[in-house]
Amino acid sequence: MKETMLQQVMTAPGEIIFRELPMPEPAQGQLLIKMMRLGICGSDIHVYHGKHPFTKYPVTQGHEVSGCVEKLGAGVTGFKVGDKVTIEPQVFCGKCYPCTHGKYNLCEELKVMGFQTTGAASTYFAVDASKVDILPETMDYDEGAMIEPLAVTVHAAKRYGDLTGAKVAILGCGPIGILLMQTVKALGAASVAVSDVSEYRIALAKSLGADHVFLAGKTDLNTAMLQAFGPDKADVIYDCAGNDATMGQAIQYARKGSTIIL
Ligand SMILES: [Zn+2]
Ligand SMILES: [Zn+2]
Repeated sequence: MKETMLQQVMTAPGEIIFRELPMPEPAQGQLLIKMMRLGICGSDIHVYHGKHPFTKYPVTQGHEVSGCVEKLGAGVTGFKVGDKVTIEPQVFCGKCYPCTHGKYNLCEELKVMGFQTTGAASTYFAVDASKVDILPETMDYDEGAMIEPLAVTVHAAKRYGDLTGAKVAILGCGPIGILLMQTVKALGAASVAVSDVSEYRIALAKSLGADHVFLAGKTDLNTAMLQAFGPDKADVIYDCAGNDATMGQAIQYARKGSTIIL
């Protein structure tokens, strides 16, 4: 009997099934990955609620993942069975203007695994070896599945430029806000203030290294920045909450010449 595996499918908003499929075979240039960890992103939740504008159903989710190389397809070099890996979920054309200028995340035909093309929520996943990165020995599977959201925050941090000595305000400290706080500190920020409506989240941010935390709704952004940084306020404000209120506050209270990244 042929071996089978399970694959997650969201058939409609709020409806998830697991279907049995034959074990995939890695095609030429592909790796077969045994999936070990899968993160659930805010955008996965939007898909669950039918509120993701660029996703159709049925869809197999899974774009923040780690796994273990199970099998190499023909022609694949640089990997071996047992390698701990993560997967870059962007599928791009490689030919359009953004692709040929190093910005494949803006490809004119961009598809992201788990949204417009099959994600990795299955026992095994066959994927082009070019999308696979080997994790360092010291990194575990839990950490490996955090690389994709971490890459989002590294990109956001670098949009500001040199963060050495910078005073940074971050509005919203869900997973992305907290990862961004840690990223800007690792890149040299002098002081970071975060705010959120959740006491749990600001306590977590504080325990993970935030210099100043504020409960949104209790302390307005202007007061928070004055308390944290003095009259010059923040050099850069990042909005990681993504609602009209935080964006409006960022624009209203930023000092002249500071940067706002939404
Ligand atoms: Zn995500
Ligand atoms: Zn392209």
